[in-house]
Amino acid sequence: MAEVVRIAIQKSGRLSEKSLQIIKNCGIKFGSDARVLKEEASNFPLEFLYVRDDDIPSYVRDGIADVGIVGRNEYDEQAIDLEVLRDLGFAKCRLSIAVPNDFVYQGLSSLEGKRIATSYPNILGGILKARGVSASFVQVSGSVEITPAVGIADAICDLVSTGATLAMNGLREVESLYTSTAVMIGRKQMASVAKQRILDRLMLRLDAVMKASSYKYIMFNLPQEHLEQVAHIIGGMKSPTVTPLMEKGWVSVQTVVAEDTFWEDFEQLKALGAQGILVTPIEKMTE
Ligand code: ATP
Ligand code: MG
Repeated sequence: MAEVVRIAIQKSGRLSEKSLQIIKNCGIKFGSDARVLKEEASNFPLEFLYVRDDDIPSYVRDGIADVGIVGRNEYDEQAIDLEVLRDLGFAKCRLSIAVPNDFVYQGLSSLEGKRIATSYPNILGGILKARGVSASFVQVSGSVEITPAVGIADAICDLVSTGATLAMNGLREVESLYTSTAVMIGRKQMASVAKQRILDRLMLRLDAVMKASSYKYIMFNLPQEHLEQVAHIIGGMKSPTVTPLMEKGWVSVQTVVAEDTFWEDFEQLKALGAQGILVTPIEKMTE
């Protein structure tokens, strides 16, 4: 039987959709039917296991899956010794301390001797220990926000992305301790050379997809005299591509710019007389 790489993906939850999307963007075709637990891609040696996110690190450790996509929080909490192969950037959230509105909070030391409800006792324990605070933990696996109201905790430490759930439960976020994004994890050594080769191919595609989403392709017309200055601003993968226009003294410029500095670059280009600026997303990109 031909080798395949098995990837564990959250069956249904906050990570599921984006995990599947990023693999689809790698040109890999599969059904992504949430009712099945296991399926194979039709055009790449990749097999999907749809499981609860809590199980992903141990499945990878035990070789049930070769790689998996999980929140860094879950991976760190379980403290299973694997390799973080890639930070995928999505499912961004923070692990924060939140307290009831009448709690006087003046920093982590205000938690000394208190009861803190959390699903992340290992991560929280490590942080509090490093800051010399001792507190007791109430370990809960869900609905952490209600624990102060029902009297079993004085404060909570939970994942937050917008803070809306906290506010609805009469809590306020007072300190963010840790941030998480989805990561791809794998064992330090793949089970076979064939699997490693497949994984290398997958990673090559994944890197191209991730790189593409952090850049834009940009085209514009420019008075030739400003070309030097523009080249200085935008750089590009190599230097930009420059083509003369029919109108004398004008050129057309095409290049790639980083998403995070895009608006600054855009403003500078405008200021240098760029016209007809056209910006398009990039689907895939390699060095
Ligand atoms: P499962 O049924 O698979 O165990 P779950 O309920 O444990 O699912 P989700 O709520 O789907 O997990 O969250 C999965 C991951 O999404 C979290 O571990 C975290 O990395 C990330 N995440 C992003 N934003 C948030 C948020 N606001 N609250 C909780 N998790 C978040
Ligand atoms: Mg879970």
